[in-house]
Amino acid sequence: MRVIAIDGPAGSGKSTVARRLAERLGLEYLDTGAMYRAVTFAALRRGIDPADGDDVARLARDIELVVDDEGVRVDTVDATIEIRGPEVTRAVSIVAANPAVREEMVRRQRSWAESRGGGVIEGRDIGTVVFPSAELKVYLTAKPEVRAARRSKEVTDLDYQTVAADLARRDALDEGREASPLAEAEGALVVDTSNLSVDEIVDELQRRLP
Ligand code: C5P
Repeated sequence: MRVIAIDGPAGSGKSTVARRLAERLGLEYLDTGAMYRAVTFAALRRGIDPADGDDVARLARDIELVVDDEGVRVDTVDATIEIRGPEVTRAVSIVAANPAVREEMVRRQRSWAESRGGGVIEGRDIGTVVFPSAELKVYLTAKPEVRAARRSKEVTDLDYQTVAADLARRDALDEGREASPLAEAEGALVVDTSNLSVDEIVDELQRRLP
């Protein structure tokens, strides 16, 4: 199984880089953040409090979840747009801090990779927890103002200050939580993407592949 693990905070360039690397290597790509977002979407939609650990954990185990090139479907409902919206973005870190939810998502991520012979997988805990023996582990980072500017371009309905504050809050929750906090994996290649183009980063990762 050929797995490439890419972790890092929001706006570090993970999705763009992971997608392009997967294309170049002819591997499939998995956005694990979309999975935590999808569970959050399902909870909000059913009126379940995202902070209600047991109910959200049960939901995470019960829902049918598909994340692929066409988008994200939760129990056959297309959630591609909504999972990027402000409600989900605000609540996702609480859901992602739930150890039982993580256990279920990790199980699904491993089985996704096993059934495809691997892939390029991005998230927060891929190199540390999900695939510690990945063929290449990468930790992408960038200056906070660069990450906020990138996110700000993606979300057109919120101003820069709001996006920057949301991002800082989410980073703090992701880094500070007890269950699989965002961290550099042992042996990970750390790349500051602040001043690099996507192709420069992907070239560097390709050079580091065994
Ligand atoms: O990558 P994205 O910003 O869409 O991820 C949304 C949220 O999902 C993160 O802020 C984090 O709380 C959670 N997440 C996680 N573990 C992953 C991927 C995402 O906890 N592997």
